[in-house]
Amino acid sequence: MGLITIAKTISRNVFGGPATRRYPAEPAKRYDLTRGRLVFEPENCRLCRICMLRCPTQAIVVERKERTWEIDHFRCITCGNCVDLCPANVLHLEPVYREPEADRPAKEFHRIPEPPPENADAGCETPGV
Ligand code: SF4
Ligand code: SF4
Repeated sequence: MGLITIAKTISRNVFGGPATRRYPAEPAKRYDLTRGRLVFEPENCRLCRICMLRCPTQAIVVERKERTWEIDHFRCITCGNCVDLCPANVLHLEPVYREPEADRPAKEFHRIPEPPPENADAGCETPGV
């Protein structure tokens, strides 16, 4: 019995093809719960810094004065915390994998556009921040 099981295992390993994919040459498999990558839409960002303050890996840096938003994708663990907490809904998780970092820099940088004059006072006050 044991020998038959071993023979089946050997046969499967020899003739069954590789157990891994040749990503990125072959697309990665996606599952329903795949979180993929974090996507940021800078147009409506309020620079409130909640994403930065609540990110468990300090992957995001927001500079209000310079109006910049930056993420280090090497640090991001796609936990979704910033997505849940962003008051402007400008962060979301796409169920696709990022390109390999060799093809794309790990750091993503955005300069947040100035709001139109009539909304110049618009912003997100962050209590206790
Ligand atoms: S939490 Fe949302 S609105 Fe606030 S700085 Fe981050 S991305 Fe911008
Ligand atoms: S998904 Fe999680 S780890 Fe990634 S930037 Fe947002 S809070 Fe940080």
